[in-house]
Amino acid sequence: MTEISAAVKKAIRYNIVQNILKHYKCPDSCGAHCCSKGQIHLFEDEMKMLTILDSVKAGVIVNADIYPGLYLMSAPCSFLNRTGRCDVYDKRPTVCGLYPFKVNSSGNSIGLQPCPIGFSIIRDFASWIVDSSTKSGISEEEKLRISEEWQKNMELYASELEEFHFKTILKEMQIPFDELEMLSMFLTSKNAKKIRNALSK
Ligand code: SF4
Ligand code: SF4
Repeated sequence: MTEISAAVKKAIRYNIVQNILKHYKCPDSCGAHCCSKGQIHLFEDEMKMLTILDSVKAGVIVNADIYPGLYLMSAPCSFLNRTGRCDVYDKRPTVCGLYPFKVNSSGNSIGLQPCPIGFSIIRDFASWIVDSSTKSGISEEEKLRISEEWQKNMELYASELEEFHFKTILKEMQIPFDELEMLSMFLTSKNAKKIRNALSK
């Protein structure tokens, strides 16, 4: 891996995102939507790696013309195989390893798309926030406000998830990096399992 990918991965908290994503699985019904629609941006070293792996499939990669060293592949991705799996999973570009998280320009948060997996993460995030607030020393009014706020948020993201296949833009949730790290720690805790089990009943 070249320095640019390593530096970008560090800046966007790639390892934390990976730790979160390992708790979720894409439903087969989604049909690898993220690899089939839109555009996939990649760095020069990633473009070179894909070219080494399969120069014919990588032949569709073009210069993105928006930033030096940034390349572009139009979906459906040529590395998506007939069974809906990625042929280069272990070497997939950074952007693929992040999805449904998406980088923004704020430098202190990351976006989360409410696709099926993204919605599950948002739901667990909401449970964690509401659960934490009920155990904290804040007033009952404040606890109620937080609970109602997240109820509304979940309705919004549920409506985004509905028929998301047909939408070009989804309203994404912004997660500050410090909360992202705490969510990651929460998901690996035993408490998370208890809350998620209770939710699925
Ligand atoms: S990340 Fe989201 S859009 Fe992509 S395959 Fe998984 S559930 Fe579908
Ligand atoms: S490289 Fe793999 S993960 Fe990325 S878009 Fe292509 S098939 Fe999907």
